[in-house]
Amino acid sequence: MTTLQITGLAGNRRDIARETLDSFAANLEGSLLYPEDEGFNEAIAGWNGMIKKRPSCVVRPRTTQAVMQTVEFVRDNELELSIKGGGHNIAGLALSDGGITLDMADMRMVQVDAGARLVRVGPGCTLGDVDKATQAYGLATTLGFVSATGVAGLTLGGGFGYLTRRFGWTVDDLEEAEIVTADGRVRRTSRQADEDLFWAIRGGGGNFGVVTEFVFRLHEVGPQVTGGLIAWPASEAEAVLGLYRRTAESAPRELTTVVLRRNAPPAPWLPESAHGTPIIVVVVCHSGDLEQAERDLAPIRSHGRPLADLIQVKNYVDQQSLLDATQPKGMHYYWKSEFLPGLSDELFATYNAQFADMKAPANQIVLFQVDGALKEHPEDDGAVGNRDAAFACVIQSMWAPDSPAGEANRQWVRTAWEQVKRYSTGGNYVNFQTADEADERTLESYRGNYARLAAIKAKYDPGNLFRVNRNIRP
Ligand SMILES: Cc1cc2nc3c(=O)[nH]c(=O)nc-3n(C[C@H](O)[C@H](O)[C@H](O)COP(=O)(O)OP(=O)(O)OC[C@H]3O[C@@H](n4cnc5c(N)ncnc54)[C@H](O)[C@@H]3O)c2cc1C
Repeated sequence: MTTLQITGLAGNRRDIARETLDSFAANLEGSLLYPEDEGFNEAIAGWNGMIKKRPSCVVRPRTTQAVMQTVEFVRDNELELSIKGGGHNIAGLALSDGGITLDMADMRMVQVDAGARLVRVGPGCTLGDVDKATQAYGLATTLGFVSATGVAGLTLGGGFGYLTRRFGWTVDDLEEAEIVTADGRVRRTSRQADEDLFWAIRGGGGNFGVVTEFVFRLHEVGPQVTGGLIAWPASEAEAVLGLYRRTAESAPRELTTVVLRRNAPPAPWLPESAHGTPIIVVVVCHSGDLEQAERDLAPIRSHGRPLADLIQVKNYVDQQSLLDATQPKGMHYYWKSEFLPGLSDELFATYNAQFADMKAPANQIVLFQVDGALKEHPEDDGAVGNRDAAFACVIQSMWAPDSPAGEANRQWVRTAWEQVKRYSTGGNYVNFQTADEADERTLESYRGNYARLAAIKAKYDPGNLFRVNRNIRP
């Protein structure tokens, strides 16, 4: 009898007969992939090439029924399960090493109800899938900045993007979710049904079950917005940061601004003479009236002599993929994040100091503006919390898999983070945590909401079946 060694819930290896797996698969509305099967390697390829986990097999459900069967199968056989949405999580939380990975890629439907201003989204969808479908009606919900990111993981960790200032965290627009819990039941959660579970999944990650459908509220957005980026040599950093702060503080909710410093990539939109030199970049998205946008952006666009100004009227969908090329799949990535309550002179001095002698080609520190609508909700409206944040700061490093620069890059990120952390609200974004971050960081993500999350985890998943995530201890 052939057996497969599969990681068990206790971290042990369990022998499971191939026959047992085959008969489970025979009744499944979906497929089961073994390592030798075509499509297996693609199914386990995540965005961060640093992740080397290799599941024993991959289940690809097509229906909620198949998800229920899988949850029952792993629970009854005490096997470790991971859930893959878009596979973008930097810590590799989509994959179980030696266990079973539930890959939601075949549940990728998007259904827009323009009249009701709602969209139903399958758990295998990317942000681009949803933006394209909703923008056909001039509608959108708040999603992130890189279109290949999975809607599922982004939403379950809270979610933010260019529309956060107008509409709040992504989960503030979550109306309903269908979820298969550890007991194998399907529940439709909302503010009216299984409210505690709904509260928990609005930020608490994949700790509570497998989400098989999300329903989001939609808003009129675009289809045309004013967006793009503008770059100057870093010799302008102090002036640009001051201008950035003034713009951000006075900006209407329709305008979201992002600032970052790094060395210039060899991009065709930058003059060749600037390639590899230190630059400062402001990224904007203005989803309001086009003439108003021109007025709001004039101070930024008329500052000094930019190396490039790519700000223009464009489709919102194009703005949503503006940064895609900067985040290629398979490179090695290491990040740290903190939420900031505001931008002080001291923070800017610390920020600039990190670049004094920074040679790495792709290291950067990004400040995303998020304040606005999220502050109109109480801190405990959903597990996501962090409603005291005005900016999300993410310190990022990227290098090629064969580059020897990995450890130096990671060290640069850690050092910069130690400095920037002094200006934090005390919270950080759970979706930006790397594999080496300890449980203490998860606690810091949820702060006052953690105890309630733990109680809900104990109610819906007392055996901690859903553990390949930033784990909430039941
Ligand atoms: C290039 C890049 C840009 C990003 N930009 C943004 C941004 O602008 N805004 C933002 O908010 N975040 C952003 N993120 C962070 C992003 O939200 C997280 O990486 C998130 O985990 C990605 O979701 P995913 O579905 O692709 O993740 P996966 O790696 O597939 O899964 C991540 C986690 O979600 C859980 N999960 C996935 N699907 C389900 C499901 N159906 N049911 C239950 N649990 C599930 C998994 O258990 C796992 O723990 C970005 C990430 C990257 C890599």
